[in-house]
Amino acid sequence: MSLLEKLDAAAAARKAQLPEGIGAFGIPIEESYSATEARIGKRRVLMLGTNNYLGLSFAPECREAAHQAIDQEGTGTTGSRMANGNYYGHRALEREFAEFYKYRECIVFTTGYQANLGTISGLVGAGDIVLIDGDAHASIYDGCILSGADIIRFRHNDPADLEKRLRRLGDRSRNTLIIIEGIYSMLGDQAPLAEIVQIKNTYQSTLLLDEAHSLGVLGETGQGLVEKTGMNDEIDFITGTFSKSLCGIGGFCVSNHPQLDQLRYVSHPYIFTASPSPATIASTRAALKLLQEGRLLRERLWQNAHRLYSSLEKSGYRLGPQPGPIVAILLDNPRQALTLWNGLMEHDIYVNLVLPPAAPEGKSLVRCSINAAHTTEQIDQVCDVFSKLHPIVA
Ligand code: PMP
Repeated sequence: MSLLEKLDAAAAARKAQLPEGIGAFGIPIEESYSATEARIGKRRVLMLGTNNYLGLSFAPECREAAHQAIDQEGTGTTGSRMANGNYYGHRALEREFAEFYKYRECIVFTTGYQANLGTISGLVGAGDIVLIDGDAHASIYDGCILSGADIIRFRHNDPADLEKRLRRLGDRSRNTLIIIEGIYSMLGDQAPLAEIVQIKNTYQSTLLLDEAHSLGVLGETGQGLVEKTGMNDEIDFITGTFSKSLCGIGGFCVSNHPQLDQLRYVSHPYIFTASPSPATIASTRAALKLLQEGRLLRERLWQNAHRLYSSLEKSGYRLGPQPGPIVAILLDNPRQALTLWNGLMEHDIYVNLVLPPAAPEGKSLVRCSINAAHTTEQIDQVCDVFSKLHPIVA
Protein backbone atom coordinates (compact mmCIF):
# COMPACT_ATOMS: atom_id res chain seq x y z
CA MET A 1 0.00 0.00 0.00
CA SER A 2 1.40 3.43 -0.91
CA LEU A 3 1.78 6.17 1.69
CA LEU A 4 -1.27 8.02 0.41
CA GLU A 5 -3.34 4.84 0.18
CA LYS A 6 -2.54 4.19 3.83
CA LEU A 7 -3.96 7.61 4.71
CA ASP A 8 -7.08 6.85 2.65
CA ALA A 9 -7.49 3.57 4.52
CA ALA A 10 -7.14 5.37 7.87
CA ALA A 11 -9.78 7.91 6.82
CA ALA A 12 -12.14 5.10 5.77
CA ALA A 13 -11.62 3.32 9.11
CA ARG A 14 -12.40 6.53 10.98
CA LYS A 15 -15.61 7.07 8.99
CA ALA A 16 -16.63 3.45 9.53
CA GLN A 17 -16.15 3.73 13.32
CA LEU A 18 -18.87 6.36 13.64
CA PRO A 19 -20.06 7.83 10.32
CA GLU A 20 -22.30 10.48 11.90
CA GLY A 21 -19.62 11.54 14.41
CA ILE A 22 -17.09 13.06 12.04
CA GLY A 23 -18.30 16.64 12.61
CA ALA A 24 -17.86 16.43 16.39
CA PHE A 25 -14.07 16.72 16.20
CA GLY A 26 -12.37 20.03 15.55
CA ILE A 27 -15.69 21.85 15.46
CA PRO A 28 -15.07 25.53 14.63
CA ILE A 29 -15.58 28.04 17.46
CA GLU A 30 -16.82 31.01 15.44
CA GLU A 31 -16.60 33.58 18.24
CA SER A 32 -15.53 33.52 21.89
CA TYR A 33 -17.60 35.83 24.08
CA SER A 34 -16.15 35.13 27.52
CA ALA A 35 -14.49 32.42 29.60
CA THR A 36 -17.78 30.48 29.54
CA GLU A 37 -19.63 31.34 26.32
CA ALA A 38 -18.93 31.07 22.60
CA ARG A 39 -20.70 30.72 19.25
CA ILE A 40 -20.63 27.45 17.36
CA GLY A 41 -22.49 27.68 14.05
CA LYS A 42 -25.64 29.62 14.91
CA ARG A 43 -25.68 28.51 18.54
CA ARG A 44 -24.55 30.55 21.52
CA VAL A 45 -23.15 27.75 23.66
CA LEU A 46 -22.05 27.32 27.24
CA MET A 47 -18.44 26.15 27.14
CA LEU A 48 -17.96 23.13 29.35
CA GLY A 49 -15.07 21.63 27.43
CA THR A 50 -12.11 24.00 27.80
CA ASN A 51 -9.00 23.79 29.98
CA ASN A 52 -9.58 27.34 31.18
CA TYR A 53 -9.74 26.21 34.82
CA LEU A 54 -9.42 29.59 36.50
CA GLY A 55 -11.50 31.37 33.86
CA LEU A 56 -8.66 33.77 33.02
CA SER A 57 -8.93 33.74 29.20
CA PHE A 58 -10.31 37.31 29.13
CA ALA A 59 -8.56 38.65 32.28
CA PRO A 60 -7.90 42.37 31.68
CA GLU A 61 -4.40 42.15 33.24
CA CYS A 62 -3.36 39.43 30.77
CA ARG A 63 -4.88 41.15 27.73
CA GLU A 64 -3.22 44.44 28.63
CA ALA A 65 0.18 42.75 29.11
CA ALA A 66 -0.15 40.98 25.73
CA HIS A 67 -1.09 44.22 23.94
CA GLN A 68 1.86 46.04 25.43
CA ALA A 69 4.27 43.26 24.50
CA ILE A 70 3.11 43.28 20.88
CA ASP A 71 3.51 47.05 20.70
CA GLN A 72 6.96 47.00 22.25
CA GLU A 73 8.47 43.74 20.95
CA GLY A 74 6.51 42.78 17.87
CA THR A 75 4.43 39.71 17.06
CA GLY A 76 7.04 36.96 17.01
CA THR A 77 10.64 36.28 17.99
CA THR A 78 11.48 34.62 14.63
CA GLY A 79 14.04 32.34 16.24
CA SER A 80 15.13 29.76 18.77
CA ARG A 81 16.00 30.41 22.42
CA MET A 82 19.53 29.32 21.43
CA ALA A 83 19.85 32.08 18.88
CA ASN A 84 17.94 35.33 18.42
CA GLY A 85 14.77 34.21 20.24
CA ASN A 86 15.92 34.48 23.86
CA TYR A 87 14.20 37.64 25.13
CA TYR A 88 14.13 39.29 28.51
CA GLY A 89 10.56 38.01 29.05
CA HIS A 90 11.49 34.33 28.59
CA ARG A 91 14.19 34.60 31.21
CA ALA A 92 11.97 36.61 33.56
CA LEU A 93 9.23 34.00 33.30
CA GLU A 94 11.77 31.26 34.06
CA ARG A 95 12.83 33.13 37.20
CA GLU A 96 9.20 33.61 38.20
CA PHE A 97 8.37 29.92 37.80
CA ALA A 98 11.47 28.91 39.76
CA GLU A 99 10.50 31.32 42.56
CA PHE A 100 6.90 30.13 42.50
CA TYR A 101 7.97 26.52 43.08
CA LYS A 102 10.97 27.57 45.21
CA TYR A 103 13.12 25.44 42.91
CA ARG A 104 16.50 26.39 41.61
CA GLU A 105 16.08 25.98 37.85
CA CYS A 106 13.43 26.48 35.21
CA ILE A 107 13.32 26.13 31.44
CA VAL A 108 10.51 27.59 29.37
CA PHE A 109 9.54 25.70 26.20
CA THR A 110 7.36 26.71 23.26
CA THR A 111 4.48 24.37 24.16
CA GLY A 112 3.55 22.03 27.00
CA TYR A 113 3.93 19.17 24.55
CA GLN A 114 7.51 20.25 23.87
CA ALA A 115 8.20 20.67 27.59
CA ASN A 116 7.58 16.94 28.00
CA LEU A 117 9.34 15.99 24.78
CA GLY A 118 12.34 18.18 25.58
CA THR A 119 12.68 17.25 29.24
CA ILE A 120 12.24 13.50 28.80
CA SER A 121 14.45 13.18 25.72
CA GLY A 122 17.09 15.33 27.41
CA LEU A 123 17.09 13.28 30.61
CA VAL A 124 17.07 9.69 29.35
CA GLY A 125 18.50 7.93 26.32
CA ALA A 126 19.36 4.50 24.93
CA GLY A 127 20.15 2.14 27.80
CA ASP A 128 17.97 4.05 30.29
CA ILE A 129 14.40 3.18 31.25
CA VAL A 130 11.20 5.16 31.49
CA LEU A 131 8.43 3.79 33.68
CA ILE A 132 5.24 5.61 32.78
CA ASP A 133 1.72 5.47 34.13
CA GLY A 134 -0.62 3.55 31.81
CA ASP A 135 -2.81 6.65 31.30
CA ALA A 136 0.09 8.99 30.53
CA HIS A 137 -0.55 11.76 28.01
CA ALA A 138 0.67 11.37 24.41
CA SER A 139 3.32 14.07 24.93
CA ILE A 140 4.91 11.89 27.62
CA TYR A 141 4.81 8.82 25.45
CA ASP A 142 6.21 10.70 22.45
CA GLY A 143 9.02 12.12 24.61
CA CYS A 144 9.90 8.57 25.62
CA ILE A 145 9.98 7.41 22.01
CA LEU A 146 12.17 10.37 21.03
CA SER A 147 14.57 9.56 23.87
CA GLY A 148 15.36 6.01 22.70
CA ALA A 149 15.01 4.72 26.31
CA ASP A 150 13.21 1.43 27.04
CA ILE A 151 9.55 2.16 27.77
CA ILE A 152 7.65 0.25 30.45
CA ARG A 153 4.09 1.10 31.47
CA PHE A 154 2.79 0.43 34.96
CA ARG A 155 -0.88 0.04 35.79
CA HIS A 156 -2.63 3.40 36.12
CA ASN A 157 -2.33 4.88 39.64
CA ASP A 158 -1.12 1.54 41.00
CA PRO A 159 1.97 1.97 43.24
CA ALA A 160 2.19 -1.79 43.88
CA ASP A 161 2.51 -2.46 40.17
CA LEU A 162 5.13 0.30 39.88
CA GLU A 163 7.13 -1.25 42.71
CA LYS A 164 6.92 -4.72 41.19
CA ARG A 165 8.35 -3.43 37.93
CA LEU A 166 11.15 -1.49 39.64
CA ARG A 167 12.08 -4.53 41.71
CA ARG A 168 12.41 -6.59 38.55
CA LEU A 169 14.82 -4.03 37.11
CA GLY A 170 17.43 -4.63 39.81
CA ASP A 171 20.32 -2.15 39.53
CA ARG A 172 18.79 -0.58 36.45
CA SER A 173 16.18 1.12 38.66
CA ARG A 174 18.81 3.82 39.27
CA ASN A 175 18.68 4.69 35.57
CA THR A 176 14.91 4.83 35.56
CA LEU A 177 12.74 7.90 35.11
CA ILE A 178 9.24 7.44 36.55
CA ILE A 179 6.65 9.71 34.91
CA ILE A 180 3.23 10.52 36.33
CA GLU A 181 0.64 13.31 36.14
CA GLY A 182 -0.90 15.42 38.93
CA ILE A 183 -4.43 15.20 37.53
CA TYR A 184 -4.96 12.79 34.65
CA SER A 185 -6.34 14.49 31.58
CA MET A 186 -9.02 11.99 30.62
CA LEU A 187 -10.59 10.69 33.85
CA GLY A 188 -9.62 13.61 36.09
CA ASP A 189 -8.19 11.48 38.90
CA GLN A 190 -5.10 12.39 40.95
CA ALA A 191 -1.86 10.42 41.35
CA PRO A 192 -1.09 8.74 44.72
CA LEU A 193 1.98 10.95 44.95
CA ALA A 194 3.21 10.22 48.48
CA GLU A 195 3.27 6.47 47.84
CA ILE A 196 5.01 6.89 44.51
CA VAL A 197 7.65 9.18 46.06
CA GLN A 198 8.37 6.58 48.71
CA ILE A 199 8.89 3.91 46.08
CA LYS A 200 11.10 6.09 43.89
CA ASN A 201 13.29 6.84 46.93
CA THR A 202 13.58 3.17 47.85
CA TYR A 203 14.71 2.29 44.33
CA GLN A 204 16.80 5.47 43.84
CA SER A 205 14.96 6.34 40.66
CA THR A 206 14.12 9.80 39.33
CA LEU A 207 10.58 11.21 39.27
CA LEU A 208 8.97 13.56 36.76
CA LEU A 209 5.53 14.95 37.59
CA ASP A 210 3.45 16.61 34.85
CA GLU A 211 1.19 19.20 36.50
CA ALA A 212 -0.49 20.27 33.21
CA HIS A 213 -4.03 19.90 34.59
CA SER A 214 -3.27 20.50 38.27
CA LEU A 215 -1.37 23.81 38.02
CA GLY A 216 -3.67 26.52 39.37
CA VAL A 217 -6.14 23.88 40.49
CA LEU A 218 -4.54 22.13 43.49
CA GLY A 219 -2.58 23.47 46.46
CA GLU A 220 -2.86 26.63 48.53
CA THR A 221 -0.99 28.76 45.96
CA GLY A 222 -1.91 26.63 42.95
CA GLN A 223 1.40 24.80 42.43
CA GLY A 224 -0.48 21.58 41.87
CA LEU A 225 -0.48 18.11 43.42
CA VAL A 226 3.06 18.67 44.69
CA GLU A 227 1.81 21.42 46.99
CA LYS A 228 -1.42 19.70 47.96
CA THR A 229 0.55 16.67 49.17
CA GLY A 230 3.50 18.63 50.63
CA MET A 231 5.99 16.81 48.40
CA ASN A 232 7.97 19.85 47.20
CA ASP A 233 11.33 18.48 48.35
CA GLU A 234 10.76 15.09 46.78
CA ILE A 235 10.05 15.66 43.11
CA ASP A 236 13.00 15.77 40.71
CA PHE A 237 11.31 17.44 37.77
CA ILE A 238 7.95 19.14 37.36
CA THR A 239 6.62 19.95 33.90
CA GLY A 240 3.53 21.91 33.02
CA THR A 241 1.84 24.01 30.41
CA PHE A 242 0.72 27.61 29.97
CA SER A 243 -2.22 26.50 27.84
CA LYS A 244 -4.66 25.52 30.56
CA SER A 245 -5.11 27.53 33.77
CA LEU A 246 -2.71 30.23 32.48
CA CYS A 247 -4.62 30.67 29.19
CA GLY A 248 -1.54 31.12 27.02
CA ILE A 249 0.63 28.72 25.07
CA GLY A 250 4.01 27.33 26.13
CA GLY A 251 5.40 25.00 28.76
CA PHE A 252 7.98 24.71 31.51
CA CYS A 253 10.14 22.36 33.51
CA VAL A 254 11.34 23.24 37.03
CA SER A 255 13.83 21.36 39.18
CA ASN A 256 16.18 21.69 42.10
CA HIS A 257 18.83 19.78 40.15
CA PRO A 258 21.33 22.27 38.67
CA GLN A 259 21.78 19.82 35.78
CA LEU A 260 18.41 20.88 34.36
CA ASP A 261 20.20 23.79 32.68
CA GLN A 262 22.17 21.31 30.53
CA LEU A 263 18.97 20.38 28.75
CA ARG A 264 19.17 23.66 26.88
CA TYR A 265 22.21 22.29 25.01
CA VAL A 266 20.99 18.78 24.26
CA SER A 267 17.22 18.99 23.94
CA HIS A 268 16.06 19.25 20.33
CA PRO A 269 12.49 20.33 21.20
CA TYR A 270 14.07 23.32 22.98
CA ILE A 271 16.78 24.15 20.45
CA PHE A 272 15.21 23.53 17.06
CA THR A 273 12.03 25.54 17.35
CA ALA A 274 11.12 29.21 17.67
CA SER A 275 10.60 30.60 21.17
CA PRO A 276 7.14 31.65 22.44
CA SER A 277 5.94 35.03 21.19
CA PRO A 278 6.33 38.14 23.38
CA ALA A 279 2.55 38.41 23.74
CA THR A 280 2.12 34.88 25.07
CA ILE A 281 5.04 35.30 27.48
CA ALA A 282 3.65 38.60 28.77
CA SER A 283 0.10 37.29 29.25
CA THR A 284 1.47 34.16 30.94
CA ARG A 285 3.52 36.24 33.37
CA ALA A 286 0.42 38.23 34.26
CA ALA A 287 -1.65 35.05 34.57
CA LEU A 288 0.95 33.42 36.84
CA LYS A 289 0.53 36.32 39.27
CA LEU A 290 -3.27 35.96 39.19
CA LEU A 291 -2.93 32.20 39.66
CA GLN A 292 -0.84 32.61 42.81
CA GLU A 293 -3.30 35.09 44.26
CA GLY A 294 -6.21 32.99 43.03
CA ARG A 295 -7.28 31.17 46.19
CA LEU A 296 -10.86 32.42 45.75
CA LEU A 297 -10.87 31.31 42.12
CA ARG A 298 -9.74 27.84 43.19
CA GLU A 299 -12.49 27.71 45.82
CA ARG A 300 -15.07 28.67 43.20
CA LEU A 301 -13.70 26.10 40.76
CA TRP A 302 -13.95 23.32 43.35
CA GLN A 303 -17.46 24.35 44.41
CA ASN A 304 -18.50 24.12 40.76
CA ALA A 305 -16.72 20.80 40.30
CA HIS A 306 -18.37 19.19 43.34
CA ARG A 307 -21.78 20.55 42.35
CA LEU A 308 -21.60 19.05 38.86
CA TYR A 309 -20.06 15.75 39.97
CA SER A 310 -22.64 15.06 42.68
CA SER A 311 -25.55 16.05 40.46
CA LEU A 312 -24.40 13.77 37.62
CA GLU A 313 -23.88 10.95 40.09
CA LYS A 314 -27.44 11.45 41.36
CA SER A 315 -28.75 11.39 37.79
CA GLY A 316 -27.21 7.93 37.43
CA TYR A 317 -24.19 8.60 35.21
CA ARG A 318 -21.03 6.52 35.55
CA LEU A 319 -18.21 8.96 36.29
CA GLY A 320 -14.43 9.11 36.60
CA PRO A 321 -13.12 8.01 40.02
CA GLN A 322 -13.01 11.36 41.83
CA PRO A 323 -14.56 14.82 41.66
CA GLY A 324 -12.46 17.59 40.14
CA PRO A 325 -12.39 20.13 37.35
CA ILE A 326 -12.38 17.31 34.80
CA VAL A 327 -15.57 15.29 35.07
CA ALA A 328 -15.54 12.30 32.74
CA ILE A 329 -18.78 10.47 31.93
CA LEU A 330 -18.17 6.87 30.92
CA LEU A 331 -20.37 5.49 28.16
CA ASP A 332 -20.72 1.95 26.84
CA ASN A 333 -19.58 2.66 23.29
CA PRO A 334 -18.74 5.47 20.82
CA ARG A 335 -22.32 5.69 19.54
CA GLN A 336 -23.72 6.25 23.01
CA ALA A 337 -21.10 8.92 23.72
CA LEU A 338 -21.97 10.68 20.46
CA THR A 339 -25.69 10.52 21.28
CA LEU A 340 -25.08 12.28 24.59
CA TRP A 341 -22.69 14.78 22.99
CA ASN A 342 -25.31 15.64 20.32
CA GLY A 343 -28.03 15.92 22.96
CA LEU A 344 -25.93 18.42 24.91
CA MET A 345 -25.19 20.43 21.75
CA GLU A 346 -28.90 20.61 21.00
CA HIS A 347 -29.24 22.22 24.43
CA ASP A 348 -26.39 24.65 23.65
CA ILE A 349 -23.78 22.97 25.83
CA TYR A 350 -20.33 22.20 24.45
CA VAL A 351 -18.30 19.36 26.01
CA ASN A 352 -15.46 17.16 24.72
CA LEU A 353 -16.18 13.88 23.00
CA VAL A 354 -13.37 11.35 23.52
CA LEU A 355 -13.42 8.08 21.62
CA PRO A 356 -10.92 5.20 21.36
CA PRO A 357 -7.95 5.25 20.95
CA ALA A 358 -7.73 8.69 22.62
CA ALA A 359 -9.33 7.55 25.87
CA PRO A 360 -7.69 5.00 28.20
CA GLU A 361 -8.53 1.30 27.78
CA GLY A 362 -10.75 1.87 24.78
CA LYS A 363 -13.26 3.88 26.81
CA SER A 364 -15.79 6.26 25.22
CA LEU A 365 -16.19 9.46 27.17
CA VAL A 366 -18.04 12.69 27.33
CA ARG A 367 -15.60 14.89 29.18
CA CYS A 368 -16.69 18.07 30.94
CA SER A 369 -14.33 20.63 32.32
CA ILE A 370 -15.43 23.20 34.78
CA ASN A 371 -13.97 26.60 35.43
CA ALA A 372 -14.02 29.26 38.13
CA ALA A 373 -15.99 31.66 35.92
CA HIS A 374 -19.01 29.34 35.59
CA THR A 375 -21.86 30.71 37.64
CA THR A 376 -23.96 28.48 39.90
CA GLU A 377 -26.89 29.11 37.53
CA GLN A 378 -24.84 27.88 34.57
CA ILE A 379 -23.77 24.73 36.45
CA ASP A 380 -27.39 24.08 37.49
CA GLN A 381 -28.56 24.55 33.91
CA VAL A 382 -26.00 21.93 32.79
CA CYS A 383 -27.08 19.55 35.58
CA ASP A 384 -30.73 19.88 34.47
CA VAL A 385 -29.92 19.08 30.88
CA PHE A 386 -27.82 16.06 31.87
CA SER A 387 -30.61 14.80 34.07
CA LYS A 388 -33.15 15.11 31.19
CA LEU A 389 -30.78 13.34 28.79
CA HIS A 390 -29.98 10.38 31.03
CA PRO A 391 -32.74 8.12 29.60
CA ILE A 392 -31.20 8.35 26.09
CA VAL A 393 -28.01 6.67 27.29
CA ALA A 394 -29.41 4.48 30.06
N1 PMP B 1 0.61 17.16 29.43
C1 PMP B 1 -0.67 16.82 29.62
C2 PMP B 1 -1.03 15.91 30.75
C3 PMP B 1 -1.65 17.34 28.77
O1 PMP B 1 -2.95 17.00 28.96
C4 PMP B 1 -1.28 18.21 27.72
C5 PMP B 1 -2.29 18.82 26.78
N2 PMP B 1 -3.54 18.34 26.75
C6 PMP B 1 0.06 18.51 27.56
C7 PMP B 1 0.98 17.98 28.44
C8 PMP B 1 0.52 19.38 26.43
O2 PMP B 1 0.27 20.71 26.65
P1 PMP B 1 0.04 21.76 25.47
O3 PMP B 1 -1.32 21.49 24.88
O4 PMP B 1 0.10 23.06 26.14
O5 PMP B 1 1.12 21.58 24.47
